[in-house]
Parts: sequence; structure tokens; C-alpha cells
Amino acid sequence: MITWDKSLDSLFINGKWISADSGRTESVINPATLEKLTDVSWAGRTETEHAIQSASLAFPEWSRKTARERSKILYKTHELLLERVERLSTILTMEQGKPLAEAKGEIRSAANFFLWYAEEANRLYGEWIPSSIPGKRLLVKPEPIGVIAAITPWNFPSSMIARKLAPALAAGCTVILKPAPETPLSAIELVSILTEAGVPDGVVNLVTGDAEEIGSAFMESRDVRLITFTGSTEVGKLLMKGSANTVKKLSLELGGHAPILVFEDANLERAASQTLASKFRNSGQTCICANRVYVHENVKERFANLLHEKISLLKAGNGLEKGIDLGPLINRQSLDKVQSHLKDAIQKGANVLNGGAPLQTGLRGYFYSPTLLTQATKDMKVMREETFGPLLPLQSFTEEADVIHKANDTDYGLAAYLFTDNLSRATRVSEALEYGIVGVNDVFPAVPEAPFGGVKQSGIGKEGGSQGIHEYVNLKYISTVIDE
Ligand code: NAP
Repeated sequence: MITWDKSLDSLFINGKWISADSGRTESVINPATLEKLTDVSWAGRTETEHAIQSASLAFPEWSRKTARERSKILYKTHELLLERVERLSTILTMEQGKPLAEAKGEIRSAANFFLWYAEEANRLYGEWIPSSIPGKRLLVKPEPIGVIAAITPWNFPSSMIARKLAPALAAGCTVILKPAPETPLSAIELVSILTEAGVPDGVVNLVTGDAEEIGSAFMESRDVRLITFTGSTEVGKLLMKGSANTVKKLSLELGGHAPILVFEDANLERAASQTLASKFRNSGQTCICANRVYVHENVKERFANLLHEKISLLKAGNGLEKGIDLGPLINRQSLDKVQSHLKDAIQKGANVLNGGAPLQTGLRGYFYSPTLLTQATKDMKVMREETFGPLLPLQSFTEEADVIHKANDTDYGLAAYLFTDNLSRATRVSEALEYGIVGVNDVFPAVPEAPFGGVKQSGIGKEGGSQGIHEYVNLKYISTVIDE
């Protein structure tokens, strides 16, 4: 357990921790116990404008550093994150609720993003183009895009920040970060570590506070050249509209509605274990988690029985305690959404095999029992919208073409999964799925070395991989006539 004896000056601007001009603060609540952890400063437009100015002033010097100099700081950040796994994961669990083992996994993943981009900083190559005209030299040079604003959600409060800051800093950009109000403490820790690792004043700035005021300061600023956002599709659209006047580049990681397709030739034990892990990790509050499962008619009963047994063994509670598989939902609205999806599904004919109600754990937080539904149909909300909670609906299918159509029949396109031991089917179906990420017998595809991102209304751009750093650069084309 970690305690804070006073409220935190949580705005980090030009290398200094300060409070809001208004003196306003907001509480950070432990979602498992509903106890207050501490208070943090609450910024508005003025503080955000100062942060943008600070990032603008720091940009020329940071962008002129050699890739090696920037990369050294990122290596150090990786090292410090790993050294502090215990503290960082405890804080993460206290403010977000996920079990400690998951929180440790998230901190290691955040550290690995810094490692990957410490390496990639040195591989940001340009191009020399053979000219069709004698006496000309044609060069393409990647240059950092400038000041960037990063807005992140509460469900992965450390790794979502790392996925943005590591490539941005590697490319030579300066940053203003706005974390989710539910989880500012993980952001404060990460920014402190970056400073300790050697990030100069003004290069990384942090504003915790009012989303609309901070967001509009970002969108209207001529100095902010890119907004990188992870969150809901609804807010992503607002940011796109609001950024039109300043023709800003946007990198958007938005909502998902992932299908899992279980074919009759799948290893059912593996498919059931992985479906369980995908759905109930972070209590179902994951953008790439299974939202709906299509299982072949011939194996549907066996598959449902396997899931039923495994779900019965899951234990919910305070994530800081040993042996906990599920933490609380983040707030009351999340619990209400799960309830409304369940009610709607039952009204439309779904059968509840496990769970189906809020869970009494002796704690005050918003716990919900892991719930398995069979006989789901496409008219149910849970089969059409992102639930973001521990509700798992199964629908059966018989034809490959039909299940591909069902999987693609949505505006979302983040991640999709299939289970089969047939190589031709795996290839055919993964090519036909209209998603940015496809997992074949694999529900954990997110790694720093691969490009993560959605299509359709799940987003624009990539995070991770050699591609991720390209979000943060402009390509300058230099054409030179020389005397030969
Ligand atoms: P959200 O409501 O969109 O909020 C995300 C962030 O945006 C928060 O920091 C929020 O601050 C801020 N925000 C809200 N309105 C804003 C505005 N007008 N201007 C500027 N910032 C604004 O999403 P969430 O509920 O926190 O996160 C869940 C969603 O994120 C799900 O849809 C999930 O699928 C998606 N997600 C996607 C990925 C991915 O990689 N594709 C990863 C994780 C999560 P306030 O809370 O203060 O409003």
C-alpha cells in the first residue's frame, strides 16, 4: 500500500511541478474501495497554453539532439521503469483496479515500448531517389513534426502513455500529455521517471484537468501539430472536427468491438482459455477484448461448457490481494452499461450460463460477475456495441462465409480473432476480416515491435512497430541542382 499525505501539484510545465492557477483540485478514487487516494491539481485553458508554450520553446534544442542522445534517455527510462515495477504497479492497481499481476504486466509493456523506440530512434532513415534529370539530387528527410498533444484513457494508464511518448520523443518531438482524470497518478510517476532519465525541461509537460478546456486549447493551437488520442470513437470524432481549422495531423486509437470466431477444427481447450483471458482481463475494459463470440454449431455446447467451468473458478476482489482475477469496473456508468446490455440481451432471448448481476465482494467498488450468455442474436446491443465490461455472448454459425460477414458487419475495425487448426482456413479468414489486427489462435497480439491500430471507425494510424515512429515525422523532400 502507498499513501499520499497531501494533495499533489500535478501540473508539470517547463520542468516544474506546480498547482493550478485557480488552486482547484480533484480527488483520485480507488475504484475497488471507493476511498480517496489523494487530490491532484485541475488545470484549465491557461495552464494548457503555458504548457504548449513550454513545449514550443523546448522543441528546437530537443529536435537538434542526435538520435543517440535521445535514445540514451529512452534506454534509461526503460531501466528505471523495470527497477520500479513494484511501486508503479501498486499505484496502477490502486487507482485503476486491475489485479496486481496485470498491472505488473502493463508496466513491463510500457518499459518495452521505451526500449523499442530507444532502438528505433537510431533507425529513422530517409531516402535518396535516383533522379531522372542530370545534375539533380533528390533527398527525402524525416523531420520531427513538432509539438504534439497526447490524450490517454484510464484502462491502460501507463502503457497507453508509453506507446505515444516513446516514439514521439525518439523522433524529436516535444509533448503535452493529458491523462484520464481517473488515473493521473500513473502519469505523474511516468513523467517523474522521464525527468530522472534526463528529459530536459519543457520537453514533456503534463496537464491534469478539464478535458474540454484542455482539448480546445490543443485543437485551436497553431503550435500543436499533432494530436495523438486513445479513447472512444465519439471523442475521436470531436477531436477531428475541432482540429479542422488548424489542419492538424491526428493519430487516433479508438473503440473496438472484437469478434472471436471459433471453427469446428479448433483446439477447443485453447480457444476457451484464450477467450476467457481476452474477455476478462481488466474486467473486460480493453479495446481489443472479445466483445462477441461466434462458435460453430457442431462444437457450441462443448465450448460453452468449457467456458462455464473456467468462469466458475474466477475470483473477483481488491487487485492488491493475492489470487484475484477480476477487479472492479471503473465507475457506476460502466456498471450501468453492462447491466443495460445484459437486460437487453435477456429480453431478446439470451440464456445466462454464468453471472448476470453485480457482485458482492464486501468492498464498495463496482464489481460485476463474469457473465456468459448463449443464444445471442445480432439484434442484441451486446452484439452491436462495445460493452467494456465482463459480459461474453455466444452465437452459433455453420458457414464460413456467413461468419465472416457477421464479423465484418460493424463500423468498428480494431481487432478480430479466429481459432482453427486448418492453415488454409486461417489464411483465408484472416485475409477476409476487415480489421487492423487479426489474431490467429492468439488473443494477445499487442507487442512493441508490431504496428497496432484500427480501420474504419476504430482509428487512424499505428502505434508500435517501425511504423509507429512515422506518425511523429514529416517527410521533407529536398531537390538540389548541383554543378557537376
Ligand atoms: P474517452 O471518454 O474517449 O476518454 C479518453 C480521454 O479523452 C480521457 O482522458 C478524457 O478525459 C479525454 N476527453 C474526453 N473528452 C474530451 C475532449 N472533448 N477533449 C479532449 N479530451 C477529451 O474514453 P475512455 O472511456 O476513457 O476509454 C475507453 C475507450 O477507449 C473505449 O472506447 C476503448 O475501446 C478505447 N480505447 C482504445 C484503445 C486503442 O488502442 N484503440 C486503447 C484503449 C482504449 P475526461 O475523462 O476528463 O473526459
